[in-house]
Amino acid sequence: MEGKYVVALDVGTTTVRCHVLDQSTTAIGIASNEIRHEYPHYGYDEIQPDELWTKVVSVIQDAIKVSGVNPSAVSCLGISAQRSSFVTWHRDTGKPFHNFITWKDVRANSLVRQWNDSLTMKGLRAGARCLFTMTRSKRFLAGSVLKLMNAQVTLRLSWALQNIEELKKCVASGDAMFGTVDTWLMYKLSGGKLHVTDVSNASATGFYDPFTMQWANWALKLFGIPVNILPQVCDSAADFGCLSKDIVGAPIPIRSLMADQAASMFGSCCFEEGDVKVTMGTGTFLSVNTGFKPQASVAGLYPQVGWKMGDQTVYVMEGAAHDTGTLIKWAEHIGLLADASESAHLAQSVSNSDGLCFIPAFSGLQAPVNNPRACTGFIGIKPTTRRGHMVRAILESIVFRVVQLYRALQCEVKYSYTTIRVDGGVSRNNFVNQLLADLTGLKVEQPKTAEMSVLGAGFLAGLQTGVWKSKEELQALRHVEHVYEPRTEVCEEYSNILGLWNEALTRFLDWYD
Ligand code: ADP
Repeated sequence: MEGKYVVALDVGTTTVRCHVLDQSTTAIGIASNEIRHEYPHYGYDEIQPDELWTKVVSVIQDAIKVSGVNPSAVSCLGISAQRSSFVTWHRDTGKPFHNFITWKDVRANSLVRQWNDSLTMKGLRAGARCLFTMTRSKRFLAGSVLKLMNAQVTLRLSWALQNIEELKKCVASGDAMFGTVDTWLMYKLSGGKLHVTDVSNASATGFYDPFTMQWANWALKLFGIPVNILPQVCDSAADFGCLSKDIVGAPIPIRSLMADQAASMFGSCCFEEGDVKVTMGTGTFLSVNTGFKPQASVAGLYPQVGWKMGDQTVYVMEGAAHDTGTLIKWAEHIGLLADASESAHLAQSVSNSDGLCFIPAFSGLQAPVNNPRACTGFIGIKPTTRRGHMVRAILESIVFRVVQLYRALQCEVKYSYTTIRVDGGVSRNNFVNQLLADLTGLKVEQPKTAEMSVLGAGFLAGLQTGVWKSKEELQALRHVEHVYEPRTEVCEEYSNILGLWNEALTRFLDWYD
């Protein structure tokens, strides 16, 4: 059985997990560890880089130990990582200047607002409008409504470059390095030799141009981001050196590096143009494979690079709702839920939410609402409101946000959609999956494991090293646990509820300054 195992690592927002996959794609060794976030001030969301590194090493070691596989029999390692969280560090010492500033961090909110309202951005939009009139290219139409968002790295990095003194000094002397989670891990795994990222992680920063496949010079100049701090952008499937022998006792070749959403697309086998998946983890990410061309959006969806493998680059159009698992965690935190797993049962314990609406906007509302100042809350609490109604309203709001994203996607990227593949922790919830099928009219395919990012990173690495011969082989090995069929009568019942929820949503917009 020499060389027929793949180690797959996924560094998510909530957990780090590692699976040892055999050739049938079954996880024969699994380890995971929660990621600790720090919230030093209101709106700040940080992760300690060295603590994250230590957890990554220990989950890799544990997964291999649990699997009982001899490390020298492992073909390769694939890595997927949460996108858009970043750290900067000293080129010589490797010492970070600050913690990871995660994609959930809103400290740069006022910069985002200032920039979006600035004459520069207004000028850029007007320029794009002119170019659209001349060329009718949708890319320029998208530019004409361009808004900067907190979840991209751009303005959080600008904030760090302006406010962290040591970083400022080292940028001036050429001693600073920047990296997203994948870059930091590759730097640590290579003992400081590699400063790399892959195209999918780069394209989620906000200053990488998926149309030209380069760092976007205009954005670097505009936001004062020095190019010499940026990593080299590589293919997602490449030779990234080896996992050091010291870690597991044998050098394991690292053969893939992907952003978590790209990896979950790959793990869900969304290989064909028009294939669509929704990941419902910490946040929701709805993504469609748009083939070999990036597409522009005017509704606030994002063209991203899915993966680059040899001379093939696959693009994805993506829409996000940043609060999904965060709502479940919050409900647990305040005692509304004893555990996430009881949420479906509680929601089904009542026949409807009794007119109660919940708006999920801890991090504002993303596409197609695009209102970063929105707030979270219930509206319509009555003396008859019970725990079941509240939990149901929260779960419904998760689905309603996916429905909004799906409708925007249908308008902008026209494929004939029939099926949607789900993954992420919240996709373990059968109430959510069934309602999603009912309201989108799509079949919802729930895989046997919800861990698609980890599978995707493993699949891409395994394809490089010949563990699997082709994508078709992986398709054939895909395990679907359950297919939820859409029910037209439920969709009709929900039309008033959805209408009421959309009305409720308008009351929560522009709440914060
Ligand atoms: P990430 O990849 O972003 O770290 P995960 O995909 O691991 O996130 O999803 C974690 C989230 O899934 C947690 O917030 C957890 O509360 C939620 N979750 C897990 N099981 C369920 C369930 N049965 N119903 C609803 N939410 C769930």
